[in-house]
Amino acid sequence: MMTVLTGIGVGSTAAAGPCVQFTPPVNAPTDEAVPSGPEQLATATEAIRSALGKVCAELSAAAEVNAGQTLGDVLAATAEMASDPEYAELAIGHLATHGPANALTVATEEFATMFRAIGGYMAERVADLNSVRDRAVAHILGVESGGLAELTEPAVVVAHELTPADTSGLDMSKVIALVTEVGGPTSHTAIIARQLGLPCVVKVDGATTVPAGTVLAVDGARGQVIVDPDERTLAAIQERMERYARLLDDDRPGATSDGHPVQLLANIGTTADARAAASQPVEGIGLFRTEFMFLDSDQEPCIEVQAEAYREVLSAFAGRKVVVRTLDAGADKPLAYANLSIEANPALGQRAYRLVRSVPHLMAHQLTALAQAIDACPNTETWVMAPMISTATEAADFMARAEAAGLGGKARIGIMVEVPAAALCADEVLSTVQFASIGTNDLAQYTMATDRELGALADLIDRWQPAVLRLVAQTAEAGQRTATPVGVCGESASDPLMALVLVGMGITSLSMSTASIPAVRFALRHTSLETCQQMARAALGAADSTEAVSAVQNLLNEEVRQAMALE
Ligand code: PEP
Ligand code: MG
Repeated sequence: MMTVLTGIGVGSTAAAGPCVQFTPPVNAPTDEAVPSGPEQLATATEAIRSALGKVCAELSAAAEVNAGQTLGDVLAATAEMASDPEYAELAIGHLATHGPANALTVATEEFATMFRAIGGYMAERVADLNSVRDRAVAHILGVESGGLAELTEPAVVVAHELTPADTSGLDMSKVIALVTEVGGPTSHTAIIARQLGLPCVVKVDGATTVPAGTVLAVDGARGQVIVDPDERTLAAIQERMERYARLLDDDRPGATSDGHPVQLLANIGTTADARAAASQPVEGIGLFRTEFMFLDSDQEPCIEVQAEAYREVLSAFAGRKVVVRTLDAGADKPLAYANLSIEANPALGQRAYRLVRSVPHLMAHQLTALAQAIDACPNTETWVMAPMISTATEAADFMARAEAAGLGGKARIGIMVEVPAAALCADEVLSTVQFASIGTNDLAQYTMATDRELGALADLIDRWQPAVLRLVAQTAEAGQRTATPVGVCGESASDPLMALVLVGMGITSLSMSTASIPAVRFALRHTSLETCQQMARAALGAADSTEAVSAVQNLLNEEVRQAMALE
């Protein structure tokens, strides 16, 4: 019988097929013998060292395969955890009272407790740490680690949770959709699904109880997983996907139906991402997150290395625009050589632009490297912005630093609006700079006082919250008053319905994952600027996020409703 499970949807696509369950990992046995005598102790010690060595080798190999991509970076960091001598020593220390698999399990929990106490990025690494434990325990016991049998046909992958290490073992060419029981809109699974343009629903209660082989229709647009869908449902999904495929044929620049231009740009994090995006019909890069290069390294990459990476990105977009964001380290992206002290609330601490207070050389070196790259790529229209600017004084300070590094006249200089203070004082802040880009992910986090990683509070950090919408609108209006371009590069830009509202507010460019662009382009091409403005007024006048969504949906024309699966 057809049943519908609901969760948090990711993306605008849907797919149906048989499901495979990602099997739970093997646990350490409760009756494992404690080593007695020096010989058994030596064997158990060797078992722990060898298991962790194998895990490190497996993950390093997977990191190589995915080198240059975000997944590769995360895998390399996870491999490092497996090779941490303190981790092995802690486990070996427990051999006095436990067998090797249990000793490793206890040591992992101790490490995890420490990570959780540090919070932020480290707390998020607990899932990776546990995946190291699961693989190592399987090696100690000499059994297959959990996971998936080889995929022989296209399938929907269902799991309690998928870590990057888990996804590295999947043959993604056969994965048609992802479903997890936990996670939020910005969890690893959601990010990978978005990057690959796969339909995905996270936080689906009971997903792992569905028997393997059952057909599931995964609808990312609606946040639904339909178990045993009937013929009508399957046909409707197929029709929708055929319509969606036709969207990809349109490669024109972004504009409303009456020709009001809105630049459609891509978000990238690495040079490999830049090369992939360059072959797509995008008008440029709207957010180059430069921090990935820094996070990959245990010391600041030298100016020459940075300049070379920036040059690669800029040259891939000769004739187009690239918006480079300066280092956004701290909070969920800590860097040992940038975040010098442990803070109780790193999301509110010395992160992003604020690092100029403690480690000003990082910004100076980066801006110098950018100036060199821009000199080498005069045909690229380069814009440079700083993240997390809170005041007009900070905006002016960033302008001065960019000027001092020789960027004046070579690049447009701007700032990100992702702190409510900057949005509230947008007139003053925007008068100081040459452009702004709104980071709606952090703007929502700071406006709603809600950690953006927490699935449990996803309703509070909803992009349709009136408070967040009003701050975006105030910033866009200030942009119009001061003749300053204001774009959006947070996740809000990738939602076609929200994109219409943003354009109606006066936003001049939208930047998102390349997979999200076709649906946004279609929605814009089929809606007039006047309707977008009506939608913006409707959303801003709504009492809550649910009312805002339905008020805007009511103004959609039939063609866009169908394309967005709202029929
Ligand atoms: C944002 O905060 O919306 C943003 C685009 O920056 P990041 O997601 O990298 O913090
Ligand atoms: Mg941000």
